[in-house]
Amino acid sequence: MPDDAPPAAPKHGFATRMSHAARPPIRALGFVNPPVHRGSTVTSPSCEARRDNAKHRFDRVMTYGTQGGPTHWQLEDVVAEIEGGTQCTITGTGLSAVTVPLMAWLKSGDRCLMPDSVYGPARNLAENVLPHWGVETVFYDPCLDAAGLEALWTPNTRVLYLESPGSHTFEVQDVPALTAVAKRHGAISMIDNTWGIHTFQPFAHGCDVSIQALTKYVGGHSDILLGSVTVASREHHYIIRGMASALGHYASPDDCWLALRGVRTMPVRLRHQADSALRVAAWLADRPEVMQVRHPALPGAPGHAIWKRDFTGACSLFGVVFQPRFSEADIFRFVDGLKLFGIGASWGGYECLALPTNGGLQRRVTALPDGQAVRLHIGLEEVADVIADLEQALALLPQ
Ligand SMILES: *Cc1c(COP(=O)(O)O)cnc(C)c1O
Repeated sequence: MPDDAPPAAPKHGFATRMSHAARPPIRALGFVNPPVHRGSTVTSPSCEARRDNAKHRFDRVMTYGTQGGPTHWQLEDVVAEIEGGTQCTITGTGLSAVTVPLMAWLKSGDRCLMPDSVYGPARNLAENVLPHWGVETVFYDPCLDAAGLEALWTPNTRVLYLESPGSHTFEVQDVPALTAVAKRHGAISMIDNTWGIHTFQPFAHGCDVSIQALTKYVGGHSDILLGSVTVASREHHYIIRGMASALGHYASPDDCWLALRGVRTMPVRLRHQADSALRVAAWLADRPEVMQVRHPALPGAPGHAIWKRDFTGACSLFGVVFQPRFSEADIFRFVDGLKLFGIGASWGGYECLALPTNGGLQRRVTALPDGQAVRLHIGLEEVADVIADLEQALALLPQ
């Protein structure tokens, strides 16, 4: 296969591929799962071999532990398979997977465009750190079309950043239309595809770089932090590896091993959780206390038609906006009253989580919904129990 050619169409379904992806044909001592390779020092048979190996250090020729090892590579190959890319780099957190490509492609005098609905810590980087290096970030309405993006474009715009759907407000972006504008201007398009996981194929929709917080559904058990940066060309791979290496990024092989264990069962967890979430979302949409449910698969959610066109499914994370007559204290009473939901950040684990979102969110060019909002993550619990729990907590709201 030529280096930059799109990968061949997958022959098997998602769960089959996740069961078999990147497993070596000769298993270690016959065991199904790989060993954990740990290490810092890598010795060479000769000085000459060491010198030659250093030239290929981004091509899995080992000279030092910071380059990762077989455990990292196996996870990289699985993530590249999930997203339809060709090379992947594992980083220590989802957030470091956001920072590495931004720092790799932006330099002093450049401008970056970010959706107003971007993940909060990515906004923090853009607003409070990138300016130290002379990089300006302009926030745009996530629902912008190609003409709107074109109007924002300047010759020094080097990076179009996307996140679809957006964090907390769940706007689905017109990725093919927006990335086409970036391509025409010779800029790089990068997307945070954590929500889409495998239901959105970033490279088939014009993205150059795809970011995942593997902390979420790949890990699946709320016990690891990991990120990934996937690309579809060797040139881009070297750019990512070069910056990750310059900054000293590294991920624990033990965490990579846990992610490899998690990913084998991810299709089943995801299917169950996505089904439950859609049932919970539809149930909430009919409740009189609720003004809007922001789940991309529900008609009326922002960007629903685009979701239908570009995604093959959903995950189990969505937003609920309450009627404006409820105060923050009312909503705190509701969330505190939930018995099966933990109150906490992150998502993608096996358990239900609820998080009030008003107060913590910033928007520059778009407005937040009128009522108090809560982000829900639906876990593996029985959906009837989850709905019953929501029902008893809604009864705590003033009537
Ligand atoms: C959680 C999250 C991240 C960051 O992942 P961490 O592993 O927690 O650093 C990045 N993007 C999105 C959309 C997320 O939800």
